[in-house]
Amino acid sequence: MSSHNGSSNGKVAPAAFPPPVDSQKEFVKRGLDAEDELIEVGVAIVGGGTAGLACANRLLQLLADDPETLERLGEVPVAVIEKAKTCGGHSLSGAVMRPGPLEELFPDMTREQWREEGFAFGEVHKEAVYLTPTSKLAIRIPTPPPFKNHGNEVVSVSALARYQQQQAEDAGAYILTETSATQLIVDDGRVVGVRSGDKGRGKEGEPLGNFEPGTDIKARATVLAEGCWGHITGAAIKEFDLAAGREPQVWELGVKEVWKVSEPLDRLIHTMGPWPLKISSKYGQIGGTWIYPMKNEKTGEDMVSIGFVVELDYADATTSAHDLLQTFKTHPLVRKILAGGERVAWGAKALPGGGYWSMPKLSMPGAVLVGDAGGMVDTMALKGVHHCIKSGMLAAESIYAALKRGNLDLSSYEEAIEESSVGKELWEVRNARQPLQQGLLVGGPLSGIQQITKGRLPGRAAWHRNDAKEMFIGKTKDNYVKPDGKYTFDKLSSVFITGNATRDDAPNHIRVQKHVPRELAETWKWMCPAGVYEISEDAPEEGDVDVIVNYTNCVQCGAITAKGGRLTVPEGGDGPLYQIL
Ligand SMILES: Cc1cc2nc3c(=O)[nH]c(=O)nc-3n(C[C@H](O)[C@H](O)[C@H](O)COP(=O)(O)OP(=O)(O)OC[C@H]3O[C@@H](n4cnc5c(N)ncnc54)[C@H](O)[C@@H]3O)c2cc1C
Ligand code: SF4
Repeated sequence: MSSHNGSSNGKVAPAAFPPPVDSQKEFVKRGLDAEDELIEVGVAIVGGGTAGLACANRLLQLLADDPETLERLGEVPVAVIEKAKTCGGHSLSGAVMRPGPLEELFPDMTREQWREEGFAFGEVHKEAVYLTPTSKLAIRIPTPPPFKNHGNEVVSVSALARYQQQQAEDAGAYILTETSATQLIVDDGRVVGVRSGDKGRGKEGEPLGNFEPGTDIKARATVLAEGCWGHITGAAIKEFDLAAGREPQVWELGVKEVWKVSEPLDRLIHTMGPWPLKISSKYGQIGGTWIYPMKNEKTGEDMVSIGFVVELDYADATTSAHDLLQTFKTHPLVRKILAGGERVAWGAKALPGGGYWSMPKLSMPGAVLVGDAGGMVDTMALKGVHHCIKSGMLAAESIYAALKRGNLDLSSYEEAIEESSVGKELWEVRNARQPLQQGLLVGGPLSGIQQITKGRLPGRAAWHRNDAKEMFIGKTKDNYVKPDGKYTFDKLSSVFITGNATRDDAPNHIRVQKHVPRELAETWKWMCPAGVYEISEDAPEEGDVDVIVNYTNCVQCGAITAKGGRLTVPEGGDGPLYQIL
């Protein structure tokens, strides 16, 4: 049974097969190029998602009232560097949003105007939470506190980011889309900007006919708003030891579809399983689903956002968020909602799940972390959008104050986060999620106590790393439905509707070991929602196998990083183009 790595079914921890990456060496550039070879900006924001664009907009609001400081920032006061084709192209969320921070960011807008702009889809008035013990049964339970959503707004973060992009551009931001930031530039112990990636390299990294080299982007302050598992963020965390003394970060993976439906859904729905997951703690599976109504005010169309989220702490290698969602759709509770409808969008994305104790230090000399890059998600309630907006705004305010003082110490940002709704809300649930790592039966009640006492019990609950979990090849896969191409879908046809446009001859941006125990190869094969990993057909049933990496399918969800691989940034413009996710 054992392979030469000493592994056997049930004993393979992904951490034992680390990806071939040295992030400090590869992703940190020491010093800037000569002045005439670089672009100089005032503030560089890496990532045009909700968080980065909230920062850009707030900063430009403050600068609009202060021409002197604006002038000092030069020709490009604020630049946003975004790898997707358009801002929001790589953003995905459930997404039911607590409205406060967005109202604060754009105080002159009403919620009716949000809907007219096409990024908001209605206020929540009714909700229901179910247990699904089997593939047929649904038992309604009283709504647990984290699932209370009255007054919140259903939005699309990809559409919201496009709206924020427009606002920022109108206010004078320079938005570089289709541009990846590939290196953090550090000079004399301080972040002084980022380097944009080369374009037009071939499979082996060789320059092709349309080759364009990257450029150093020099900035007085840099905001890392890369979302979950940022490439530069990871390098910054290492370089400045930002995770020292914190709990390790853990992740969850969500797969989402948007459906046009014939009948409007009148409430928000969450289900807490256990079906189609396995309840035995041996499987280590914790997950749940959402179904949110979306009314398009412009077209009058009724839509529904539906998704499955699973913690990446599971042990059964055959756990697949994509197949779990397809299987969940066959439950009568869901069929009744989607029947006669049409799938219009699909996407997948990981989110940071560690919460308060796993947040890295949020500032370093010359730079700050905002939104998911700083781990600001409450996974008990599945809420991060409002924290992203608030943190982006607070970062803008700290940077503005520092620019005015002429002393670029950004540490006040950390205190501002701690004292804001972000710090307070995350503190209340800081120990609520960790007990679930012991399984739903043991961990559920302990988690409940933490939620009811709203963080008043003292202590710091530890997290175990996702990649330390020993993987085995279990039976979760036996319950997956076979896709019919109409109501249930396979991975490749799903990737197709994302508008994924990665060149076939682009260099590989996925780093994994390619000869690993079958348990690990199966983990990647099932986990990847885009079908990137395959095991060669003639591979042995046990022991080590060769992994084939079809990286051009990748939708950049980031999950691989939790289970022993690494997503690095592909060429700008590659990947999906999400519109209403
Ligand atoms: C499945 C799922 C369901 C969720 N449901 C909810 C919900 O219902 N309600 C809620 O409030 N929250 C929810 N969340 C959390 C919420 O969606 C996130 O907290 C939020 O969208 C993150 O925003 P962000 O701006 O930090 O990151 P992102 O939206 O990921 O934006 C980061 C941007 O940076 C770009 N980027 C990254 N690296 C680089 C680079 N090196 N160079 C250039 N560009 C780069 C990316 O392309 C992307 O556009 C959910 C999350 C997921 C994954
Ligand atoms: S290959 Fe891409 S899509 Fe697949 S798990 Fe990794 S990051 Fe996600």
